[in-house]
Amino acid sequence: MFAAFRGGEPRALFELIAEDAVWLVNGTVPVAQRYEGRDRIFELFRETRRLTTSPEPDLVVFNAKVYTMDATTPIAAALATKAGRFVAVGSTADIRALVGKRTQTLDAKQMTIVPGFIDCHNHAGGTTLLYEVLVGNPFEVEFVTIASIVDKLRAKARETPPGVWVEGYFFDDTKLKDKRPLNVHDLDLVSGEHPVAVHHRGGHTSFYNSKALELAHITRETPNPAGGTFDRDASGELNGRVTDRARSAFNGVGQRHSFTADQRAERERNGLAHISKQFVRYGLTSVHHENGDLSALQDVHARGDLLHRVSYESSGRVLDSMIASGLTTGFGDEWIKLGATSEHTIDGSFSERTMALGTPYPGSQPPYTGNITETQEDLNAWVERVHRAGIQVNCHANGDVAIDMFLTAVERAQKLLPRADARPKITHCTLVNDDLVRRIKAVGAVPAMFTTYAYYNSDKFVFYGEELMRRCMAYRTLIDAGVPAAAGSDFSPGPFAPLMGIQGMVTRTGWDGKTWGANQRITVDEAIRVNTVNGAYAAHEESLKGSITEGKLADFVVLADDPHTVSKDKIKDIQIVRTVVGGATKYQS
Ligand SMILES: [Zn+2]
Repeated sequence: MFAAFRGGEPRALFELIAEDAVWLVNGTVPVAQRYEGRDRIFELFRETRRLTTSPEPDLVVFNAKVYTMDATTPIAAALATKAGRFVAVGSTADIRALVGKRTQTLDAKQMTIVPGFIDCHNHAGGTTLLYEVLVGNPFEVEFVTIASIVDKLRAKARETPPGVWVEGYFFDDTKLKDKRPLNVHDLDLVSGEHPVAVHHRGGHTSFYNSKALELAHITRETPNPAGGTFDRDASGELNGRVTDRARSAFNGVGQRHSFTADQRAERERNGLAHISKQFVRYGLTSVHHENGDLSALQDVHARGDLLHRVSYESSGRVLDSMIASGLTTGFGDEWIKLGATSEHTIDGSFSERTMALGTPYPGSQPPYTGNITETQEDLNAWVERVHRAGIQVNCHANGDVAIDMFLTAVERAQKLLPRADARPKITHCTLVNDDLVRRIKAVGAVPAMFTTYAYYNSDKFVFYGEELMRRCMAYRTLIDAGVPAAAGSDFSPGPFAPLMGIQGMVTRTGWDGKTWGANQRITVDEAIRVNTVNGAYAAHEESLKGSITEGKLADFVVLADDPHTVSKDKIKDIQIVRTVVGGATKYQS
């Protein structure tokens, strides 16, 4: 009921109640006994009762093209919301007839409305976006120069004491105007006194300057450790690129800014508030967060800066304590809810070309089949433990070999302890075959597949070739098999813009004009469904969100153009005019 105290002071009210009040539950009134401010409480109560009992909607939007994604009324022209939910969907005449004295109205002028978009896989790293040097564009395809990277890092070095790290983020090796790789000599131009690192947005490779290599005692003679490399140029000299586990050589080296616990918490809060603004700017109303600071999330929500809804995917200590205390998927409220686990990783990366394939990477010599990072035995034990605890299992499986391992573990757990509707989640689920699809369907698994990659990363698919790309990000195949494939941007490796994702699903054509796996194209309507209804299903929230249906949360997006009718290669450019969450506008262009 507190959600209905709009215009009031919910925090003050909570304090009053906690201090000296009697609860009357079941949606009625908190009565302050002996408290001076009780008139204010009764005033708030009257307002609440008006909101919950009067038939007047809070908001009516009319004269729109509403794609509801609800089969009973697929197209409508108007909608009404009240107390955060849709209360009516229909024709402009019918819905305008509901308008009361206090109803806010909005003429959509024939713009398009769709349900709020849902991203089912996101490393919502707001602190990096807010506080760090960004050497690439996190959100769009943008080519940068090596000179621009050096300039940005030089500026940072000028305000950084010698010996302290200077680092850049969101680098993308295939988004450079200079047609050559970034190297150690470029980064030596930044500084000879600071260790310097540039991190790839994919999360598996970094580039270092000579000072950093020196501090870490890495020379041309240093052998590669297991699971990583210190890359070299043609003459055998270190070129500055360091991959995967070799990067741990730099962990205890040089000085890093240190923050007090309070400063860290404040940075987390500000980072979350910042990324929340970015999400609604692109039309996302629900996002599945991989880990993160749960208390910061609650603080940001309490101070009113959480603009999107969060399905919180736990690992480590949070997951352990969930299991220990019996908390399961679904605990929480409409804003912050415990979802599946975070991705338990089984294999390598699609964009950085280390995912586990059943056949070697085309042209690789010696034949390379990618990285498996978990034994079947350990995976079985992990899946069983989570499944037994009643928590939704979620594993990162890109290649066909990893997806097979995931399904083997899930089938085993279901045999030991059958549980209906468990919806084990496969993050990425990139490369499938007929047998895997049959097993995914049989076990009721929910894939959260790459969205923006088809457009953004088309420059990397040449490493797989057309034959494999016909089975990668296989939306067509999975939807045809009746599997509710959902969208998982994997930000920061991938941009999260849902419209960029939809364009890629519909065209399978990248920024470079190259098309890969056109057999996996889906329709605009299907792509919207992937980003809305199927996302809700992936988190067991289909009765709460995903479509514009009476009774569901009033989360929707107003688009300047209709993705069904604009040219397919312009879908990503459609302007997000307004993002509404729980009936309240959280972004307006
Ligand atoms: Zn991920």
